[in-house]
Amino acid sequence: MSRIYNFSAGPAALPLEVLETIRSDIPDWNGTGMSVMEVSHRGKDFVQLAERSEANLRSLLSIPENYSVLWIQGGATLQMAMAPLNLTTEDDAADYVITGSWGKKAAGEAAKFCHANVIADAADRNFTYIPDESTWQRSEAAAYLHITSNETIAGVEFHSLPESQAPIVADMSSTILSRPIDVADYGVIYAGAQKNIGPAGITLVIVRNDLLEKARAPLPHLMTWKAYADSDSMTNTPPTFAWYVADLVFQHLLDLGGLDEMARVNERKAGKLYAAIDASDFYSNPVALNCRSWMNVPFILADAGLDGRFLEQSAAAGLANLKGHRSVGGMRASIYNAVPEAAVDALIEFMTEFERTNG
Ligand SMILES: *Cc1c(COP(=O)(O)O)cnc(C)c1O
Repeated sequence: MSRIYNFSAGPAALPLEVLETIRSDIPDWNGTGMSVMEVSHRGKDFVQLAERSEANLRSLLSIPENYSVLWIQGGATLQMAMAPLNLTTEDDAADYVITGSWGKKAAGEAAKFCHANVIADAADRNFTYIPDESTWQRSEAAAYLHITSNETIAGVEFHSLPESQAPIVADMSSTILSRPIDVADYGVIYAGAQKNIGPAGITLVIVRNDLLEKARAPLPHLMTWKAYADSDSMTNTPPTFAWYVADLVFQHLLDLGGLDEMARVNERKAGKLYAAIDASDFYSNPVALNCRSWMNVPFILADAGLDGRFLEQSAAAGLANLKGHRSVGGMRASIYNAVPEAAVDALIEFMTEFERTNG
């Protein structure tokens, strides 16, 4: 077997232990004599999986009783439309803080359905900071405040939560499960699975129950959060395989010691990579120190002419998918939960050697 270190931004690395469980489960899952892809989602084995996954997720994130856990298709991108459709009338305002490309996309989607008020926008400095809260031009009565907890492309993360009278709706696609959070601080949390949860095709939404009652009408049944809440996310056939993998990932995280332990490891991984970048004139990261992401670390080479060689040699050294997003250029190392600390160590070693031979 030859596993490489995968720094992909998403779909991203999965824990090897989980992949090995999947491999051995495939022909005969849970003693059913079938794979998990071939069983009814309403049969007792899958219903048990669904219940266990929710119980484990509630335990990992300490989700309070008055929140529902929903599994929806359509990715985080669909939630950018479902949030305004489920929380506003077309006369309502919703406040958007834009700290990167995903927040911009979310605001653009909401603008089709309500008054999406961009109260802060970090585009003026190429999404490398979070505008100070004192400068946010908030609406008088916003239905909600939308933030992107971690901007995956430029690597900008909220390390503390803004004040808000309105419920906070947070896109946590690339940071969920990387550390403990206080779910009670939020109205809605959504996250596509393919960064820290599991395979693409399933999206986690955590909603405070009183917010399930605000959907505008008429909406397609599958566009209302309440439809999922009322049916344990089985209003129609859910993506059973992706859900199964998410369940394995939750069990794996609990085995590792839960999110306190993940936070310790993630902070250490990110800390040493930023330290290596900052210690060199050869590499740099432009993001303000107070909002550098633990999960996505973009960096540029002082000489962009060396980008091609860096990518070629890093790939040859078993370090895959380091190419930065085209809007930022340079490199990006996504170091999600499933990327081992040894991968970060290997990357730093490679970077040091590359600088020595090319600097
Ligand atoms: C990846 C990502 C998305 C897009 O997710 P899809 O599941 O592809 O719709 C949205 N927001 C953030 C922060 C992301 O990292």
